[in-house]
Amino acid sequence: MGEGRTKFFEDFDLWNFVFEQKKLGKIKHVGFSFHSTPEELDEILTKHPEAEFVQLQINYADWENPAIQSRGVYEMARKHGKPVIIMEPVKGGLLANPPEQVAEVFKKANPDASLASWAIRFSASLDGVITVLSGMSNVEQMENNTSYMENFQKLNDAEKATVEEARRVMASIPLIPCTTCNYCAKVCPQNIGISGSFTAMNIYTLYKNLETAKHQEQWLVGMHGKKPAGDCIKCGACEKVCPQHIQIRKELVTVHKTLG
Ligand code: SF4
Ligand code: SF4
Repeated sequence: MGEGRTKFFEDFDLWNFVFEQKKLGKIKHVGFSFHSTPEELDEILTKHPEAEFVQLQINYADWENPAIQSRGVYEMARKHGKPVIIMEPVKGGLLANPPEQVAEVFKKANPDASLASWAIRFSASLDGVITVLSGMSNVEQMENNTSYMENFQKLNDAEKATVEEARRVMASIPLIPCTTCNYCAKVCPQNIGISGSFTAMNIYTLYKNLETAKHQEQWLVGMHGKKPAGDCIKCGACEKVCPQHIQIRKELVTVHKTLG
C-alpha cells in the first residue's frame, strides 16, 4: 500500500474481503506492506485499526533517508501499536557492499562480522519486530544469516554506536541534497521525474552499482508516470522553487549521462 496503490484497497473492498477470509480461517493474520510517508501510514492505520501488522522497508542507510523515511514509518507503526515485519534490511544487497569508508567502520569494530550481519542485526534489534525478511542468493549467504539469527543477540551499546558512526560517515559522502519535497514537480512543464532521478543517482554515487541505480530510476521515474532526465528542456522553472538551491538542470544532465 501507499501512494496511488492505497485507493484500490478501498475501491475493491479488499479490507472487508481479507477479514471475511480471516473469519473463514483461511487467513491467520492480516497486515500490509507499505511504501510511502509516515503521514499516509497514520491515515491508513487510523482508518483501519484492524490491521494486525505492517511490513516496512527498514535499514540503517534509509533510517533518515527522506525518500524512504524508515525511522518515520517505523515510529508511526509503533505509535499505532502495530508489530512490524521488516523488508529490505540489506537494501537489496547494497549494504553487503557499502561504501568503503562505511565498511571500514564496521571492519574496525569487528573484523569477523559480515557487513550484511550489521545491517540485519540493526533491523532485528528494533522493538516490536516480528521478523526480518532478507533475500538470499546462495547457501553461503543463508549460512551467514542463520549463524547470528539462530541465537539472536540485539546490538549492544557499543555496536549501536558503531552503526551510528557508519551512518554518520555515510551521511558525509556528498550527494545531491534533494529532500524529495517535490515542489519542483509542481512547476515542471515536462513532468520530469526530478526527485526520483536524484534518488537513483545518489544510490549510484554511494554504492557504485549501476544496475540497481538504473532499476531505481525506472521504478521512481517511468513507473510513476514521470519523464526521464533527458527530456528536460532546461527552462529553469524548477530551480526557482527548490528550497535546497540545487542546480537541477546541471544535475539532470549528469543523471542522463550516467543512468540514461
Ligand atoms: S528545467 Fe527541466 S526539470 Fe526543470 S522545470 Fe524545466 S523542464 Fe522541468
Ligand atoms: S524542489 Fe529541490 S529538494 Fe525538492 S524535490 Fe525538487 S530537487 Fe528535490
